[in-house]
Amino acid sequence: KKNVLIIGAGGVAQVVAHKCAQHNDVLGDIHIASRTAAKCQAIIDTIRAKQNLKNVDGVLAGHALDATNVDATVALIKETGCEIVLNVGSPFINMPVMSACIATGAAYLDTAIHEEQDKICETPPWYANYEWKRREECEKAGVTAILGAGFDPGVVNAYAKLAVEDYFDEIESIDIIDINAGSHGKYFATNFDPEINFREFTGTVYSWQNSKWQSNTMFEVKKVWDMPVVGESQTFMTGHDEVHSLSQNLNVPNVRFWMGFGDHYVNVFTVLKNIGLLSEQPVFTAEGQEVIPLKVVKACLPDPSSLAPDYTGKTCIGDLVKGKKDGKDTEVLIYNVADHKDAFEEVGSQGISYTAGVPPVAAALLIASGEWDVKKMANIEDLPAKPFLHLLNQMGLPTRIKDANGDRDLNFAN
Ligand code: NDP
Repeated sequence: KKNVLIIGAGGVAQVVAHKCAQHNDVLGDIHIASRTAAKCQAIIDTIRAKQNLKNVDGVLAGHALDATNVDATVALIKETGCEIVLNVGSPFINMPVMSACIATGAAYLDTAIHEEQDKICETPPWYANYEWKRREECEKAGVTAILGAGFDPGVVNAYAKLAVEDYFDEIESIDIIDINAGSHGKYFATNFDPEINFREFTGTVYSWQNSKWQSNTMFEVKKVWDMPVVGESQTFMTGHDEVHSLSQNLNVPNVRFWMGFGDHYVNVFTVLKNIGLLSEQPVFTAEGQEVIPLKVVKACLPDPSSLAPDYTGKTCIGDLVKGKKDGKDTEVLIYNVADHKDAFEEVGSQGISYTAGVPPVAAALLIASGEWDVKKMANIEDLPAKPFLHLLNQMGLPTRIKDANGDRDLNFAN
């Protein structure tokens, strides 16, 4: 058994912890570390209430940790004997957590690129800003570091790899389409940390078109897609980590990311932004008090995890891939549909956290089995897609495929 250290105790960490508990016969002891120990304990309580732990002698423990302190993280990894670190804390801690893994030899997994807190938002080339600069360091230390192992980035990268492996001789474009057709019943809320969520949409929108970066503004490029189950959905072109890695690693000339937003979200967001309430720069009130507008907005909005009990509806996320096979134009949609209510019943979370939290645990299982224990840094598309998608089929995120031969489950004979 490997023993796992989960860093962060937010929405995604809750799903990761539950899924590790479901597989603790392989993953062993489960340690959860976050700045706030009470948040780790709250997750542990829900696991004890919902999951039937297979490894009855195993440890399930929470720890207070500031993961920007590399020495403290190194000490915790050593003390707990964890061989796999699932970093699902905020993206500001990626580099220090990676340093701790390199120092101890533990495998590293994350679900988003590193960001610096004082920058508005990272600009391309995203993975090359921090992560890829450390490739040699990982390889020298023999450390497996799997980057972007959530849903998007993550599973959508595996869908792209599957398209390369099985469906195309040449790929012309990959459009990643992310639709949340669920309803949380609140006037306005974000599905994960508002600070991170808004940062994603306040900067320039970058896409990879005709083999170069193209920039647009947010909500400038709109497209309606007719997606399975959720139907016609309005989306806007958005920048996203995987646009960079897929364009580079799979050598595809057009990679775009489309996020679904309803008119109401766009209106509220636009008002907040235009009056300066999404700024991370401090302002002073008439009384001389310094406040950061974005932090105030975050404090006023619902806590994303509080949305889970009443969330209904489905998400549909997938890759529409176009290219050539045997000289003929070919088009394939590889996708997953997840249900908010099912996620809540299984692990006490909403569907967005579920789709992000199940894949890193599948990746951890593949590190444990050796199939993905590559002893170097890798993005998901660098690794064989089938073992990952096969596991996800069994873990609650089944893959479907729609092409000229119909719309069907994708099954893998192992
Ligand atoms: P939350 O904001 O809910 O949780 C973040 C957690 O990180 C909190 O528990 C916070 O701890 C912890 N944290 C922050 N700073 C530190 C620190 N210095 N040391 C230790 N812990 C720290 O985020 P989510 O769960 O929604 O998202 C987690 C990650 O997953 C993010 O990086 C996000 O971008 C990514 N994500 C990826 C997706 C994908 O599909 N690839 C989709 C959704 C999210 P505390 O509160 O105790 O301070």
